[in-house]
Amino acid sequence: MSGPATLSRGQVALHSVHKRFGDVEVLKGIDLQIEPGEVVVILGPSGSGKSTLLRTINHLEKLDRGSVEIDGELIGYRRRGDALHELPEREVLRQRTQIGMVFQNFNLFPHLSVLENVIEAPRAALRQQKAAATEKALDLLERVGLRHRANSYPRQLSGGQQQRVAIARALALEPKVLLFDEPTSALDPELVTEVLDVIKNLAKSGTTMIIVSHEIGFAREVADRIVFLDAGQLIEQGSPEHVFSSAAHPRAQAFLAKVL
Ligand code: ADP
Ligand code: MG
Repeated sequence: MSGPATLSRGQVALHSVHKRFGDVEVLKGIDLQIEPGEVVVILGPSGSGKSTLLRTINHLEKLDRGSVEIDGELIGYRRRGDALHELPEREVLRQRTQIGMVFQNFNLFPHLSVLENVIEAPRAALRQQKAAATEKALDLLERVGLRHRANSYPRQLSGGQQQRVAIARALALEPKVLLFDEPTSALDPELVTEVLDVIKNLAKSGTTMIIVSHEIGFAREVADRIVFLDAGQLIEQGSPEHVFSSAAHPRAQAFLAKVL
């Protein structure tokens, strides 16, 4: 795609996002503005709310307070006066077609071939013709180096290959934003690089990406900005150079001391 209309595609804005599970406030008012095409890596200790934060962006989690907007469109809610009302499921599903997500455990459909996994959403959500969806899917599989496995089933692939299929699947709807939740943490170490390389290539394509990952070398290379989450609060952010060399917050320093 080209032209001025795409220049501002993929702006994400979180305003005072609050989320609690029972008595535990997991997100304590997150404010975050992400520019179109920006690559943000989220770091933070286990349990700090990283997955929950990603899941609020595509409304897999409802907010208790605050809002999420993508290109000015409120996600999961509509505003009436001062109040937010949850959108009907059908509308939420439409919004999710613009937000690709890649999970830790791939979440491929086991009974569908690689190709069928990739064309499923464009066929079901966008009613694309099979021939067009297939052509697009084969291009995407080429991009992640797996065109030759189009007719395989997930169980026949390594974890790294399955995750690359999951990435192709996430791209099939040409999302405005791509979310990655620890995309390599379920992989054997020797399979991590092939997945990170695919993500690095995508990062050059101008799609807004929000990535939770503890692969520090990767984060340093790919991120325009590092955001540090601790106990549901955003405690530090900045360029990789800044965060890795001179993070000011003691909790960020303590975390980095363990992973660097
Ligand atoms: P992270 O991804 O940073 O490890 P999570 O966002 O998964 O953190 O979890 C943050 C906190 O919220 C944890 O204490 C976790 O146990 C809790 N939590 C997450 N999801 C749920 C849920 N569906 N129900 C109850 N508690 C949850
Ligand atoms: Mg998590």
